Amino acid sequence: MSRIAYVNGRYVRHAEASVHIEDRGYQFADGVYEVCGIRGGRLMDEELHLARLQRSLGELRIAMPMPLSALRHVVREVVRRNHVQDGLVYLQVTRGEAPRDHPFPAKQVPPALVVTAKRLNVARIEQAVEKGVAVVTMPDLRWARRDIKSIALLPNILAKQAAREAGAYEAWLVDRDGFVTEGSSTNAWIVDKEGRLITRSTGPDILTGITRMVLLETAQREGIEVVERPFTVEEAKAAREAFVSASSAVIIPVVRIDDAVIGNGVPGSITLRLREAYARVGLLS
Ligand code: PLP
Repeated sequence: MSRIAYVNGRYVRHAEASVHIEDRGYQFADGVYEVCGIRGGRLMDEELHLARLQRSLGELRIAMPMPLSALRHVVREVVRRNHVQDGLVYLQVTRGEAPRDHPFPAKQVPPALVVTAKRLNVARIEQAVEKGVAVVTMPDLRWARRDIKSIALLPNILAKQAAREAGAYEAWLVDRDGFVTEGSSTNAWIVDKEGRLITRSTGPDILTGITRMVLLETAQREGIEVVERPFTVEEAKAAREAFVSASSAVIIPVVRIDDAVIGNGVPGSITLRLREAYARVGLLS
């Protein structure tokens, strides 16, 4: 069965899907994206993702490619046509197609929209959850507006590749003062010796993760104390538990940071409890 993509008004075979060479996304990374999880054929936290997409676009003065109701329809249609039960839907909006020139196009051009869906290897995720993963720390080389979900991901890609080459799952990025900002494609969390959940507060330093947002609510409902503040690499290495969050896998426990083993070297109990609680919320929303 062939995969189907939505590209600028048409549903096309994924293998043949293409955009113009002067799409500003291709030439300048002048665009934004969203990734939304699919579980049991249903979109997770869809409205929160669409709201973040609208915000990212607004910050860059790119128009919505179509009304929200139409966009919701396209997203669902792409998921349906690809028969995805457990996976991801990817949306990308760029400033559109125009002769290459740095300023915004003088003539109004429509924003370009691409939507794709893919299956996830659930067994592989479960395996990572069971065993936990390693992260390595490295300097955060990104721009000053990480709250915008921009398609310009070069520093993230280089960090992820360095992590993989070091045998780790993720890179935790560290600011100039020694505080962890977030992962290259995940938010970063620790649990301190007192059982408090700690994650950096939102603002221009990190992406406002949708999973992060829902997990904060989930933790509060579970009676877990939450502190939103920066934490240092040293603090993280001495933490009782650590984990990363993202729409793709919700929570993956972290059992090693650089050379430091976290807790007992196995996924922590608060981490696993939160993951279970999120699954219940996800099914209800
Ligand atoms: N931080 C960064 C840099 C990301 O790229 C992502 C996801 O792509 C996240 C955090 C997690 O965000 P979400 O929970 O919305 O998937």
